[in-house]
Amino acid sequence: MKDEFNFPEAELVKKTEIFKDCKNVVVGDGNVNAKILFVGEAPGRKEDEQGLPFVGAAGKNLDKLLEKVGLKRSEDIYIANILKCRPPKNRNPSDEEIKLHTPWLLKQIREMKPEVVCSLGNYATKFFLAGYDVEKMKKQKQISEVHGKVQEIEVNGLKIKLIPLFHPAAIIYNRKLLPLWEEDLNFIKKEIFQ
Ligand code: URA
Repeated sequence: MKDEFNFPEAELVKKTEIFKDCKNVVVGDGNVNAKILFVGEAPGRKEDEQGLPFVGAAGKNLDKLLEKVGLKRSEDIYIANILKCRPPKNRNPSDEEIKLHTPWLLKQIREMKPEVVCSLGNYATKFFLAGYDVEKMKKQKQISEVHGKVQEIEVNGLKIKLIPLFHPAAIIYNRKLLPLWEEDLNFIKKEIFQ
């Protein structure tokens, strides 16, 4: 299963140690024709076992949050991560891993052509705000400052609205973020469907 992908962007992923260590490459899930793409950080243990993004605790929370605002995971959105493989013990992604895994994500964006990208949490948000330049990620603003604010990004000439959101895992630990998340998602729904 892990070796079924053999295009140039997948070959870059295969160069990283986390590819050798993971059980599955987690490509994405949902509707590839949806207008909204959610981008998380990296697969966790459950995601690695099942080969699907957001199926563990954070995923359960994401499903609940989506349901509350009336978005269907299988119809209205597609979900992917900046890393395609699980970092051991869920450690943070390294610069090298982000550099070698994100060309695949950018390829997915070129093919899917979403109208909106919702980056979940700091890593995904900073990757887009830094213009896909890993070296510039640390200089970007924190998610608490930029969540819910629309920014325009460009991927190969395609203009896309970036709307950063808190990571669903953060909302499990900090319930104060819940009303902010709902407000941000309702705003996204209006942007897209009205
Ligand atoms: N957290 C993420 O950022 N992505 C997943 O797929 C699961 C948990």
